[in-house]
Amino acid sequence: ERAFQTAAADAAGRLAEHWRALASCELPVVPPGPPGTTLKALPETAPEQGEDLADILEDTWHTIVPQLVHWQHPNFLGYYPTNNSPASTLAELVTAGLGVQGMMWSTSPAATELEMRVCDWLARALDLPPRFTHASGQGGGVIQDSASSAALVAVVAALHRASRGRWREHGTEGRLRVYCTDQANSCVPKAVRIAGAGEPVLVPTVPGTHTMDPAALADRVDADRAAGLVPAAVVATVGTTVTCATDPVPRIGAVCRERGIWLHVDAAYAGSAALCPELREDDAGPEFADSYAVNAHKWLRTGTPCDILWVADRGDLADALGATPSYLRNDATDSGKVVDFKDWQVPLGRPMRALKLWYVLRAHGLEELREVIRHDIRLAALLASLVEREPGFHLVAHRLGLVVLRAETDDRTRELTQRLAGEPDVLCTPAIVDGRPVLRAALGSPYADETTVRRAWDTVRACAAPAS
Ligand code: PLP
Repeated sequence: ERAFQTAAADAAGRLAEHWRALASCELPVVPPGPPGTTLKALPETAPEQGEDLADILEDTWHTIVPQLVHWQHPNFLGYYPTNNSPASTLAELVTAGLGVQGMMWSTSPAATELEMRVCDWLARALDLPPRFTHASGQGGGVIQDSASSAALVAVVAALHRASRGRWREHGTEGRLRVYCTDQANSCVPKAVRIAGAGEPVLVPTVPGTHTMDPAALADRVDADRAAGLVPAAVVATVGTTVTCATDPVPRIGAVCRERGIWLHVDAAYAGSAALCPELREDDAGPEFADSYAVNAHKWLRTGTPCDILWVADRGDLADALGATPSYLRNDATDSGKVVDFKDWQVPLGRPMRALKLWYVLRAHGLEELREVIRHDIRLAALLASLVEREPGFHLVAHRLGLVVLRAETDDRTRELTQRLAGEPDVLCTPAIVDGRPVLRAALGSPYADETTVRRAWDTVRACAAPAS
């Protein structure tokens, strides 16, 4: 254990130095090596004899760290952020060290009750309806590894409910349908396929908005019903991946309610913005949802993985996913008085997922987390204004911390994308909007500020300049 203490202190020191180097942009965002670089540096077989933790730690910084993409770097503008904090890092160490497995209340009571409490804290902080809290006795939150798992769990519960309990035994019988738009994250169709319902029905978007057309949804659902199909679930998005657009959830919710269809809202990225009262959008409409998912690991300084899925009715999840063989039976479960999170997720076992969210919420406090979000939004506004002012660039979308841009022509955008891909000091992600290539830049590094944004923009502009 002494070796652990020494190595842990060394690791903490190295991480603190790593964060400092990231903050001062001393490291590239993207690693220099071609595919296979790390494989080549690693022995082909595991060591027969144990090695010192100190040596392993040294190799981590020598062999692994230089070949990482640094997601916490101020000029990492790709995808959506997956940010982190010292509080979250410390909690991960403590979680790992305690090494408990919280599949049921009885296997670690405090792990379950802490999770119930922090999910309720966050539900209140995000102004979600009271029925999403454990305190309501109706619904509650559960920490999943990802928005993908949240979507899968929600879709499965919806299929089960729509089939009046037949899904577990008979599958979808070819009749159950799930609806979303082509702007839903790829995890949504994936969840629908895994759940056995094939491809989701793609509802048209309102032209120019990238958001679901509720009237088209109603038409499609009614037509499917008339054809003998069973519309089971609609997945709406608050903050789509490509342009951060928000589907009109209240109007979609009205269509779902009238027809008894489950509404899952994927608010993986933008959901966190609801911490700030001035950023709560009427279109987000959590009160219309049966389930609602937010990734704390995107915008709440909590390391990945940490997605919270809230459900309005906890019975739906347990009905669809519950399994209690003899070896899992216990008095607490039999009493019906406890929550067993194994029935709220796909895997059986689970780590103590809530500790890091608890540490983060306590160490930062809601006020500071709101300021984090406002800060990132200000930086995105700065970047958007730089794009707008620059001849030869077009601002395609700008919402919350996301800026989507393109060059004058599609060929120029493709060239820019190619050049940026070879640029170690900034990372943006390419995508397609309305059939045209674009570049997405999402703010969210804990170390980003006006200077780093201006520097990142200078790099993008330099890559766009015609080769001389
Ligand atoms: N939903 C949206 C809107 C996203 O933007 C993303 C990822 O960026 C996801 C879902 C997938 O999240 P996860 O990686 O947690 O499954």
